[in-house]
Amino acid sequence: MAVSLDIAALRARRPEGIDIAATQGDGLGCHAGKDAMRAAAEAAGLSATLEQYKRDYPAGPHDQPQSMCPAFGSLRVGLRMRRTATILSGSACCVYGLTFTSHFYGARRSVGYVPFNSETLVTGKLFEDIREAVHASAKPEECDAVVVINLCVPTASGVPLRLLPKQIDGVRVIGIDVPGFGVPTHAEAKDVLAGAMLKFARTEAEQGPVQAPRGGRSERPSVALIGEMFPADPVVIGGLLEPLGLSAGPVVPTREWRELYGALDAAAVAAIHPFYTASVREFEAAGRPVVGSAPVGHDGTAEWLEAIGNVCDVPRDKIAAAQNRWLPAIRGALSAAPIRGRITLSGYEGSELLVARLLVESGAEVPYVGTACPRTPWSEPDRAWLEARGVRIRYRASLEDDLAAFEEFRPDLAIGTTPVVQKAKEAGTPALYFTNLISARPLMGAAGAGSLAKVVNAALANRPRFDAMRAFFEGVGTGHAAGIWQDVPRIKAAPKAQAPEKPVGEMA
Ligand code: SF4
Repeated sequence: MAVSLDIAALRARRPEGIDIAATQGDGLGCHAGKDAMRAAAEAAGLSATLEQYKRDYPAGPHDQPQSMCPAFGSLRVGLRMRRTATILSGSACCVYGLTFTSHFYGARRSVGYVPFNSETLVTGKLFEDIREAVHASAKPEECDAVVVINLCVPTASGVPLRLLPKQIDGVRVIGIDVPGFGVPTHAEAKDVLAGAMLKFARTEAEQGPVQAPRGGRSERPSVALIGEMFPADPVVIGGLLEPLGLSAGPVVPTREWRELYGALDAAAVAAIHPFYTASVREFEAAGRPVVGSAPVGHDGTAEWLEAIGNVCDVPRDKIAAAQNRWLPAIRGALSAAPIRGRITLSGYEGSELLVARLLVESGAEVPYVGTACPRTPWSEPDRAWLEARGVRIRYRASLEDDLAAFEEFRPDLAIGTTPVVQKAKEAGTPALYFTNLISARPLMGAAGAGSLAKVVNAALANRPRFDAMRAFFEGVGTGHAAGIWQDVPRIKAAPKAQAPEKPVGEMA
């Protein structure tokens, strides 16, 4: 929207912290470039937040993997929590995309939106509008928490969510900045909100009694689990922990506020997905030991049971008994469902290394794993195990990295993101979309050991169909048959018109 502004007057009226420069010219958005956005945010006083993000979510080897708008991760976490209202503050086009994607993934919940224009942004009226929206949403009979998410432009302009009230009638108010120029992936944006909520809940627990878990406290000490996983996985993990005298605790990101206290109350924490740096910081501040990797496959389960047993002071013989109880079943499930073939793997869910371990233990050759997530201490056991078996791991992998691996290794099956799958299929190679077809399956314990083989082997067996289709459609849609003119079309000269015969009787 074009708005004519009296900048001098606005400057005089603006509240501290709002950066007028951020609203000049074409405004700021994905198109403005990361450096311009970052500079504007720093000028608006957000250096500390951006520095923290840099430490929590290190970029490199290159800048940022191709990924959807990172804020989707935070939005999704908020929308999946009971009694939680989520409000976006950002450009209308960003909010349109984010709400569309949320509803595409079945949010079935309203997303709050506080619109703005140049004037409300510059004068600070946007902040007042956000505060008003928060007050209107914070109804204790409906909500435990209201989440406000600053997208790129309000973050770059320094809209100060930290100045929102912390609570309204007992409803917590959580304001977070989730700019695309500060948080590299939507996976890590889940951590931004989960970490902010854990911090809030930890402070509450330190100040006095808090709500007990819905089903009461477990008799056995629990292990909180970090990472969105297949719904059966926490149940399987609970079974694996039982011979250690432990139980599976809440999964973070949680599905309701009171589960945060239960998670903080756990005896230990399992960082199943390894990129939740801010959440881990809160658990460590609460004095909870954090264990990396996950109980995947034979070796992964053996190491994980030992690591969890050790941090929870479980006697050695009990750990050995748990291993003896579960490992033969996992080995049996793996050998009953072998996978034969070369597979390249890439994704942005954070579970890529775990899936690769399962594939390797099932007998597959996995020369390459790419993950959009960074290298962290909690995936180090998986990195060491995979690299010892010749797997090349690329953290913060870009699409170019994944495609180059596909060209180099010519796999029998490519598991990856949408463009990787598209490229593989074009080349006549069976391919599976990681997010929908692989990460939406059980991976843990014996249940996980056999679950991948079915879908992977079915895809591998599709190769002859791809060959037949390629042969049938050979040349269609490429080169001269692409439907695109290869050259400027030449107009043929029309044949010369014949002189009409002289009509009978006409005068010469
Ligand atoms: S909020 Fe998301 S879509 Fe909007 S400018 Fe930032 S990264 Fe792009």
